[in-house]
Formats: sequence, structure tokens, C-alpha cells
Amino acid sequence: MARPNQARLDLGALRHNLGIARELAPHSNVMAVVKANGYGHGAVAIARELESLADALAVACIEEALELREAGIKTPILLLEGVFQARELGTASEQGFWVTIDNDLQLRWLEEAVLPRSLQCWLKIDTGMHRLGVQPEQAGATFQRLKNCDNALDELVLYTHFASADELDNSLTQDQLDVFDTACRDLPALRSAANSPGLLGWPASHHDWVRPGYMLYGNSPFQGPHPVADRLKPVMTLTSAIISLRDVAAGESVGYGATWTARRPSRIATVTIGYGDGYPRLATNGTPVLVNGRRAPLAGRVSMDMITVDVTDLPGAAIGDEVVLWGKDLPVGEVARHAGTIGYELTTRMPARTPRIVVAE
Ligand SMILES: *Cc1c(COP(=O)(O)O)cnc(C)c1O
Repeated sequence: MARPNQARLDLGALRHNLGIARELAPHSNVMAVVKANGYGHGAVAIARELESLADALAVACIEEALELREAGIKTPILLLEGVFQARELGTASEQGFWVTIDNDLQLRWLEEAVLPRSLQCWLKIDTGMHRLGVQPEQAGATFQRLKNCDNALDELVLYTHFASADELDNSLTQDQLDVFDTACRDLPALRSAANSPGLLGWPASHHDWVRPGYMLYGNSPFQGPHPVADRLKPVMTLTSAIISLRDVAAGESVGYGATWTARRPSRIATVTIGYGDGYPRLATNGTPVLVNGRRAPLAGRVSMDMITVDVTDLPGAAIGDEVVLWGKDLPVGEVARHAGTIGYELTTRMPARTPRIVVAE
């Protein structure tokens, strides 16, 4: 029998989540972000499903875009960090990739390149994230250089990225929007600002293109409840199974470092999934898992290939029973909070060792 671990992918949930994105921003184009192997879900499977539903896809770099083209994906694909070397522009031009221009060097490469076809360019403006993008004061001059550049198609898109849109009471997002709208005011171009939390929580950010990633995978970017985000359906459900059961006396400890000690006579289930399979090692004692659909707490440190769970209150638990680590009925964001991180990291770091299995069409 094969090791039971699976990252099950519900593509119906993906379509449902894209539908919510469309419903929220009915007048915007939707660019589905599938960088980092589709946030760990498998970029090709995700892109195939979204190809006919989204207006464009986005990835971090040209290698990720080429993987999708080689798999037969024909949709426009934006490179969110642009090119890292001048010669990538030739490939981008041949493949019809859209490129971000976020600094002067990338602009000079574009101006000096000899290309078979002009490129669709997205000019990124730094409105407060302070990571990528030209300064708002330079937006007009950079825009003009792109307009004058034969290698750039005439229709430009101006865009920016939010630092704190997941905090609905943080005024930085409105400040960023004000800077963005001021920088773009006299520039005839389409605009884009919203990531998932922008799309879900900041209607004024929708503009001409929205760029959701995380929410398409069915996870809420917010800490607390949210009426729309809570309707998203998780695409990935990570499952494993119980492979061993034992009773331990009160006072006995479990696992590496003996970080968990039984306060009562306890039943411990060993589940064959660990940090080598993408389950976070920093998940603390008490992190919930689902055993036959019911919650049980992690008891003891996460090992490379196994975890241990306190099933004392689930007397029916047996070897072979399914254990859900996150997904349907257990949001990945909740598990992530127990490990001091965010759900984005947990799905994105899922290694190839854990098979992705498409379970619903
Ligand atoms: C990753 C990314 C997104 C998507 O962000 P989510 O929070 O996953 O929706 C959008 N825009 C840019 C520039 C990104 O890098």
C-alpha cells in the first residue's frame, strides 16, 4: 500500500472562487496569479482550469511562464518582476509574455532591445510598499519613455501593489490608493492595484484589472471573519492517515524534545505526515487536525515524516483512518497561525514528495 498522503485539488472550488472574484469586480478584468507553482497547488493544473475563465495569468519570472506555455497554455501571462536579464526580452517577445517594467534598468534594456514583436508592458509604481516600482514622481516621465519606445505596445497598464490591504482598518491602503491615483491622473492608461485582500476588502482599488492569487485557492487573506472571504472554498485539502495508536500514562511525554506531556491517561495516534511532506515543523502543541472529520490536537513536535495527535476524546479512531491537515473544514490560515506563519507559505512550500491529486472536475 502506498503512503496515504495527498494534496487533493478540487477544481470546482477553483472555478467557484474565480466566480466570486468576478462577482466582486464585474467591470474589471481578472488576472489570476499562479506564481510559485500555483501557490504550491501545481501551476499547470491550475492554469489549465483558469485559462478560459481568467483574462490573463501572472507569474514571478520567465521560467514559470515558459512552463505554462510548454504545457499548451495560450493565455497572456504577465511577469510580475519583469525580466532579470536583457536577453529574456527576446523570449518574452516570441512567447507573447507581458512584462513588468519596475525600474530604470529594465526600461533601458527594453529601449535598446531588438525584438520580433512589441511587448505589452505593465509599468509598476511604488506607492508605499517600497519593494519594486518607479517612484510616483517619475511615473509621468517613465510613461512617456515607454510611449516613445517602439518595443512597447501603445496600450500600457499602470499598476501598484498593497502592503497591508489584509488589515481592513489600516489607513496605509487608502494612502497608497491616493498616491497611485494622483500619479496616474494625467496618464492615459489602464490601471491595476488589487491583490486578493484589495479585491475582497477595498472596492475603490478594483480599477481595470484585479490580480487575485490567494483567494482563488479558496483561502481568506483576513485574520477575522469576512462575509465574502468566508464563502471561498479551499482548493487544496491535505490528507494523511493514522498508522499507529498507543496509550500513554499520565506524566509520559511524546515526541522529540518531549515537549508534550500527558495530563491524563491518553491515546496517541501517529499520522504519517511531517515537515518533509509540507506540514510545518513549527506547528505548536494543540494545532488542530481532523480525524474522521472531528478535531483533535497535535501532541508533540512535528517530525520529518510523522506527527502525533491526541485522540483520547475520539475513542473510535483506528489505524487507517483519514486525517485532514488543512483544507475543507479546516482553513490553512488557522493551521498557519499555530505555526507563526500564513497560509500562503504552507501551500507554497508543499514539496513534490506530496502528490497533488485532482479529485473534482
Ligand atoms: C502575488 C501578487 C499578487 C497576488 O496576491 P494575493 O495576495 O495572493 O492575491 C498580486 N500582485 C502582485 C504584484 C503579486 O506579486
